[in-house]
Amino acid sequence: MKSELLFSGEPLALDVLIVGAGPAGLTAGMYLARYRRRVRIVHDGSSRALWVPRSRNVPGFPDGIFGSDLIARMSEHAVRYGGEIAEGRVVEIARRENDEGFRARLDSGATVDARGLILATGVDTNLAKLDGGDHRTAVRDGVLRYCPICDGYEHSRERIAVLGSDLHGAAEAMFLRQYSNDVTLIPKWQVALTDAQRAELEASKVDVLEGRVLRLDATGEAMLVTLEGETLPRRFDILYPAFGSAPRSELAAMLGRLTDPNGCLPFNAYSDGLFPGVYAAGDVVAGLDQISVAIGQGAMAATRLHNWLREQEGHVMADQK
Ligand SMILES: Cc1cc2nc3c(=O)[nH]c(=O)nc-3n(C[C@H](O)[C@H](O)[C@H](O)COP(=O)(O)OP(=O)(O)OC[C@H]3O[C@@H](n4cnc5c(N)ncnc54)[C@H](O)[C@@H]3O)c2cc1C
Repeated sequence: MKSELLFSGEPLALDVLIVGAGPAGLTAGMYLARYRRRVRIVHDGSSRALWVPRSRNVPGFPDGIFGSDLIARMSEHAVRYGGEIAEGRVVEIARRENDEGFRARLDSGATVDARGLILATGVDTNLAKLDGGDHRTAVRDGVLRYCPICDGYEHSRERIAVLGSDLHGAAEAMFLRQYSNDVTLIPKWQVALTDAQRAELEASKVDVLEGRVLRLDATGEAMLVTLEGETLPRRFDILYPAFGSAPRSELAAMLGRLTDPNGCLPFNAYSDGLFPGVYAAGDVVAGLDQISVAIGQGAMAATRLHNWLREQEGHVMADQK
């Protein structure tokens, strides 16, 4: 890629570009700013944390915190110490000539150059399609949920449905049995389970329904599920679609080959890096998709990248490398 903006010998304006302003990117930004690095966080406004109605498993917030409040606090924290936050979608990333850092191109056409990169781009949740009711409102009302680890506790002893009768859905239903004796697995189209898997579910008293879902309706208090061949909808306190998610790893793929066929970045990308000068953190990295994990990985990626930059600058003890 041509480096029109770089004059020979002139340092790049930014030490680090972080893509993503969720818990991972904002933590990394705050750490790097406090390492006195020139850091910019670019994001396209789609952090999954903004979806979180009220999280009760973020350490230090026993009464819970709204995802949007957490992101606002974390943004303010990064900016307080000198981090910059800008909105825009990064559509391309490439190495600059002569190994002089990286260049990102935004959807506006603008470019950003930096010596190091942290990709904290998260994942896209595969959403259920509702026939009645508004999706965001249903999530806010707590009748439609996507993360049993996050909020299964809040639905203890309730009537729970899991949508998606394959191994992924079955595993999610089993997980939710910890919270309720009334867990039902519902196929989106048809049951895709082996006899052995069905037997395991039966032994754990998870009901498996047959028949395609014709309608999904969210009311303020419940989810109504209408199945093929049934006239009346079934009522559940809460529905968990188990459709998985799609990692936003396309920018990493532009820099080199990825090893995970599902597109997640390797689990050690936050500690050992992906490529020299490139780290990743948060949901986009294979592992546990949780705010506290994203925060920890953001801190680690920032520190490793800062040390890598210090190494380039000759400011480390040779025996420490
Ligand atoms: C409904 C729901 C409820 C949840 N509840 C909880 C909970 O209670 N507790 C918990 O621990 N976890 C919860 N989670 C999971 C939690 O939201 C994620 O684990 C967390 O947000 C991951 O942080 P992250 O920084 O890795 O990614 P994200 O928060 O998703 O942030 C990704 C960032 O990358 C940016 N981005 C991606 N690609 C580009 C691009 N090309 N250009 C510019 N910007 C880009 C996005 O704009 C965004 O800022 C929940 C998730 C959902 C969907």
